[in-house]
Amino acid sequence: MSRLCGDYMLNTVFEFETLLTESVKIHGHLCPGQVLGVRMSLLGLREIGIDDPKGKDRKNLIVYVEMDRCATDAVQSVTGCSLGHRTMKFMDYGKMAATFVNIATGKAMRVIAREESRTTAKNYFPEIENKYAAQLEAYKIMTDEELFDVMEVRVRIRPEDMPGRPSRRVVCDACGEHVQDSRELYRNGRALCRPCADTGYYEPFF
Ligand SMILES: [Zn+2]
Ligand SMILES: [Zn+2]
Repeated sequence: MSRLCGDYMLNTVFEFETLLTESVKIHGHLCPGQVLGVRMSLLGLREIGIDDPKGKDRKNLIVYVEMDRCATDAVQSVTGCSLGHRTMKFMDYGKMAATFVNIATGKAMRVIAREESRTTAKNYFPEIENKYAAQLEAYKIMTDEELFDVMEVRVRIRPEDMPGRPSRRVVCDACGEHVQDSRELYRNGRALCRPCADTGYYEPFF
């Protein structure tokens, strides 16, 4: 191994460990999801050519997460993207996958955790009884190819989904509450918020 290669490996391991520690602090515990989320983010960012997500590249990145699980917190921690900044979009697909979008170049990569990696992990550490403990250790050392599939995609981000000030505010014709960012729906010429137009997650308690 050349010196350069050795340094590169060391830096990569150092970077991974630092990011994992940070992510565990935010998430509250160390779990396979943290390791997977950190690895997923490092791969996704590299694929779209972003190396400083919280610094110079912070305005160029949007991440779509397809799961609301442990790994999601790790993606937030590594990328600095969040719901509150509108740089993290939650797509409720129940899939262990995330798409990293470089909005400066349009390059978008969807990184999907491979189902087989769960069993591969167990094979790496057959001596570890607990399968989550085995996954946790294995996910640190497995290759990106063993852990993930990568899919180049195109993501059309609507202007009303971009970070920045709300584009507009509309009053719901049924409940009178304000709706911003074009989330209202139109029914028979009336502007309605989503709970009024369809079914919301809540019902008024009479
Ligand atoms: Zn967790
Ligand atoms: Zn309403």
